[in-house]
Amino acid sequence: MRVSYSTIIVGSGISGLSAAVVLAMHGRRPLVLEAHNVAGGCMQMFQRRGPFGACRFDTGVHYVGSLYPGQVMWRLLRYMGLDVSTQPLDPDCFDRISLPSGEFCVPVGWDKLADALKQACPGEEAAIDAYVARMRAVEAALNWHSLNPDAEGAYDRDLYETSLEKFLQRLGVSPRLRALLCAQSSLYAVPAADVPLAIHAAVVGSAVEGPHYIMGGGDAITRPLVKRLRELGGELRLRAPAKRVLVEGEQAAGVELESGEVLRADEVILAVHPRVAVKLLPENAYRKALRERMAEAPECVGAFVVYGTVNPQADLSGVSGRNHYLLRSDDPDCFYQPVMDGPADAILNLPPTGGGHQLFSAMGSARWEWFEPWQHSRTLKRDAAYQALKDKLAGNIVAMIEQRLPQLKGRLHVVDASTPLTLRDYAGYPRGGIYGVQPSLSAQGRFGVRRRTRYRGLYVTGAGTGTPGILGACVTGFGVAGSMLGTEQLIREVKAATEPPVKEEGA
Ligand SMILES: Cc1cc2nc3c(=O)[nH]c(=O)nc-3n(C[C@H](O)[C@H](O)[C@H](O)COP(=O)(O)OP(=O)(O)OC[C@H]3O[C@@H](n4cnc5c(N)ncnc54)[C@H](O)[C@@H]3O)c2cc1C
Repeated sequence: MRVSYSTIIVGSGISGLSAAVVLAMHGRRPLVLEAHNVAGGCMQMFQRRGPFGACRFDTGVHYVGSLYPGQVMWRLLRYMGLDVSTQPLDPDCFDRISLPSGEFCVPVGWDKLADALKQACPGEEAAIDAYVARMRAVEAALNWHSLNPDAEGAYDRDLYETSLEKFLQRLGVSPRLRALLCAQSSLYAVPAADVPLAIHAAVVGSAVEGPHYIMGGGDAITRPLVKRLRELGGELRLRAPAKRVLVEGEQAAGVELESGEVLRADEVILAVHPRVAVKLLPENAYRKALRERMAEAPECVGAFVVYGTVNPQADLSGVSGRNHYLLRSDDPDCFYQPVMDGPADAILNLPPTGGGHQLFSAMGSARWEWFEPWQHSRTLKRDAAYQALKDKLAGNIVAMIEQRLPQLKGRLHVVDASTPLTLRDYAGYPRGGIYGVQPSLSAQGRFGVRRRTRYRGLYVTGAGTGTPGILGACVTGFGVAGSMLGTEQLIREVKAATEPPVKEEGA
């Protein structure tokens, strides 16, 4: 029996799956196509054998912001019918910044953060207040992030064309305060001079306001999303790489797969890396300047991630429940100049285990060029020299962890590591950049990828078209659904359907 779909969505990351579920909730019949043999994109998990048994690691879900009841990520998940189990990170220190000159604990909430910064940087109270006020105002100006249909930040050039660096210079902050405010930049992977205020505020703001672990990792979001999609009449096809989008006249008409199979639909959404999208689109889907920007979009610094287990005897007091930003210089931009020798920058994450043995992942940066010699090979089929390079880089990260967290010395067992090539092979990021395309000044706001193309029914979405991260990518999924269903109406629906329970007096 031939089944027909109203909408084809290419890519099963959180943006593609969210768009599919929201559209299915509004009567569409979506089909999601995924090139890989598992769904989820960067939310996918993988299994390895460790010294204490089998371990299931997350690729790209270490912690997620805005997840307290009533906050935006909590509402988006609820709206789609998901009841995801989460655990808040340490409210007094969810991100611990470790620089050569000392440490700083980032607490939850802008007010608490302002107080902590004032203690760490006496004499800079006015700049700190101005920074926090600006961050709040920027977040409030972004319609999907604030769930305010009347917010018009997307049209505000200042938000997308002022860099964090320029803003901090205007405030006249000291090098110490600059370091503390820029230290979490690996959450979007762009140096301060190149990141628009809108991206910094949206990403760091959601972390500051509601950082949570996802219990069960990325699977705990992907699986119920796929289940929900199927309940609503939609479908997911794995191992189905799209080759090109088909159009007829001015209208989207379907997708041709790499296999040659043709699937017809009046609506097509590409939820993939913009450089991949531009190859799948008809040549004139966007004007030439945008097409060229997409084809040449600079990629974030490459991801090198170490995965492992912590010896059960390790003392984890002051270590677990928080992330550790271990930076080798007081200038956090060092993360964008990775080096091959010596202790390396790393963001250490220790997800709650639910009773099992403690896992860790430590995300560092790496140059694509280091791995170019193996670019024509595939994951799990690479030679001993590649493994030796992985071992060396993993050793550099472990050395940094042991230097800054001596209680973990000799307690970490590396199980595996991923390189930019891994991310290329599993998520389709051409140069294995941490979040794919850099969310930088030259790729955001009026220079960013448009959701609508010149063809009716043909759209592009995904983290590379908006804000990186799980929340950012989910927002782009809702955003593209909003472009099709009516943005203001959809935001109102989300808000109305997800009012958090009112707390009883004294409860
Ligand atoms: C190492 C790492 C750590 C991270 N940590 C965090 C974190 O702690 N918190 C957080 O919020 N975010 C984190 N992120 C970022 C977050 O995971 C991503 O921004 C988000 O998941 C991206 O979602 P997406 O929908 O844009 O697409 P992706 O997840 O990129 O998925 C795109 C999908 O499209 C598929 N595809 C590509 N081409 C085709 C084709 N031709 N046909 C069919 N399918 C195709 C790919 O196989 C892939 O499955 C991390 C990312 C990485 C890499």
